[in-house]
Amino acid sequence: MVSQRMKYWGWGYENNGLNKNQVHSLIKILAQDFGVLASSNIKKPEVSDIKLHKPKLIPPDSLLKFCTNEPYERVLHSFGQSQPDSIRIFDGDFKHAPDVIAYPERSDQINAIYDWASGVGAAIVPYGGGSSVVGGVTPDIEGHYKGTVMVNMTKLNKVLEVDETSRAALIQGGAKGPELENQLKPYNLTLRHFPQSFEHSTLGGWIATRSGGHFATLYTHIDDLVENITSITPSGCFESRRLPGSGSGPSPDRFIMGTEGALGIITEAWVRLQGRPVFKLTAGFRFAKFLDASLAVRSISQSGLFPANVRIVDATELQVNGAGDGTYTLMVVSFESSDHSVEPWMKRAEECCLDHGGIIDIDWRENPDTNLKGAVGAWRDAFIRMPYNRENLTPRGIISDTFETAITWDKFEEFYWAIKDATQQAIRDVTGQNGAVSCRFSHAYPDGPAPYFAFHCTGKPGGMLEQWKAIKYAASEALIKNGGTITHHHAVGRDHQKWYEKQRPKLFGHILKDAKNRLDPDGIMNPGVVV
Ligand SMILES: Cc1cc2nc3c(=O)[nH]c(=O)nc-3n(C[C@H](O)[C@H](O)[C@H](O)COP(=O)(O)OP(=O)(O)OC[C@H]3O[C@@H](n4cnc5c(N)ncnc54)[C@H](O)[C@@H]3O)c2cc1C
Repeated sequence: MVSQRMKYWGWGYENNGLNKNQVHSLIKILAQDFGVLASSNIKKPEVSDIKLHKPKLIPPDSLLKFCTNEPYERVLHSFGQSQPDSIRIFDGDFKHAPDVIAYPERSDQINAIYDWASGVGAAIVPYGGGSSVVGGVTPDIEGHYKGTVMVNMTKLNKVLEVDETSRAALIQGGAKGPELENQLKPYNLTLRHFPQSFEHSTLGGWIATRSGGHFATLYTHIDDLVENITSITPSGCFESRRLPGSGSGPSPDRFIMGTEGALGIITEAWVRLQGRPVFKLTAGFRFAKFLDASLAVRSISQSGLFPANVRIVDATELQVNGAGDGTYTLMVVSFESSDHSVEPWMKRAEECCLDHGGIIDIDWRENPDTNLKGAVGAWRDAFIRMPYNRENLTPRGIISDTFETAITWDKFEEFYWAIKDATQQAIRDVTGQNGAVSCRFSHAYPDGPAPYFAFHCTGKPGGMLEQWKAIKYAASEALIKNGGTITHHHAVGRDHQKWYEKQRPKLFGHILKDAKNRLDPDGIMNPGVVV
């Protein structure tokens, strides 16, 4: 079987993407409903036309069999999936392309890469699926480094062991979502961690970024599903004890989670599994106002029901994605279990929605989960298409980005308006137009929601990067100033570092630096990220 090549200019495999009608419809809605106009239509640069500097590093013979500097590989590993990455790709700006891409298949090969890299003064960027939307894998390395080595983990992709008694599995860090789920299927077990990037992101990447997945309540982050971690650092192997819980001191796992490749490479982890759900119910409700819907989310989040999904999507986001006419907010609620009927939970959640003015969009009594209709079905289809939007918008001169945060309920309403206004104002300042700013909730906690904002606006050919930076700056400043987090699950990367430093306690920054000095004394691991 011929393996499919990944796109270097967008999402997924080279032959997957939006069809002409889908692109046309997206562009038309943005133009007609929001005045966001396409200003260009540039072609993606071909690999043969991209100017790459000569590799500054040549690995020794002992590493050559799992390293490459082939142009397509260097181009593919030059960027992640962020909006500035996309702008630079279509601008043909590959000046920071990595010098070497390593595909280790064993831990000792990772150690050999460390030895060589510290000897020659190279920087290392761990690379899972490359789906970072915050510059986590974009090798813009500043400083004295002699070159960059990307360590692509995707050949370490096996489920090594399944403990059916405890319902847990030992899985290698480079396993992508579908690979690990396929290997768990024979056991009728699942990790059930489904970030939107599931298909092309890895377990190691999820743990390194503390990704947020399928569950909108309770088990929101991968953190909740991790039993232990093995990470190889330049100073040795860091392996925590596998336990269902422990109160012995600060948690070694919590220490590694979220370090984004700055302290080492996660090679494997034991993760908690669940039975595959057989009882599933989904309901949809329409609300006249986003803030009314947020009250329904609050009451469900505080009810102890813990639905698998409790998402609200505002009228603008539905409209931009062809899933609504701009007159209502949609709420999707679902429950699932491998063990028992979830009807009583759904009935109570429905009451919470109806109490806050919700109108039934799809009735859970009539809609099996597999055949979703109404606005819920349209939204789900749009959600699947969404990752492919940017590769069609950037070349047409349209800026599109998302950012996500979390805030306690007591501050939510004020916070929501502050972030929306700051983003809208920045768009007006840099484009002279309103653009489209929208919001949904990706996750919800008893003490507060995780709002997820999106924006679209017309860019200026040749000036899109500067425009994006100004909008991103304004939105990020507003998040921190108004008490939110710079990220709920997209991670810090290079793009959020400045605000992460403002958010974390100063002393914690010093502790991280000390830990980095201990584990990575030559400072070769993903410089500029987190620490
Ligand atoms: C379309 C789209 C949808 C997305 N949806 C979600 C979502 O629903 N939820 C969510 O949380 N995020 C989402 N993201 C962001 C991204 O998918 C996550 O951050 C994901 O966890 C990254 O995994 P990855 O394997 O692609 O890691 P990469 O992007 O390759 O790397 C991310 C960071 O982790 C480090 N890293 C990677 N692998 C390892 C390893 N084995 N050991 C140590 N460090 C490592 C890298 O150096 C980098 O700093 C989305 C991104 C896209 C493009």
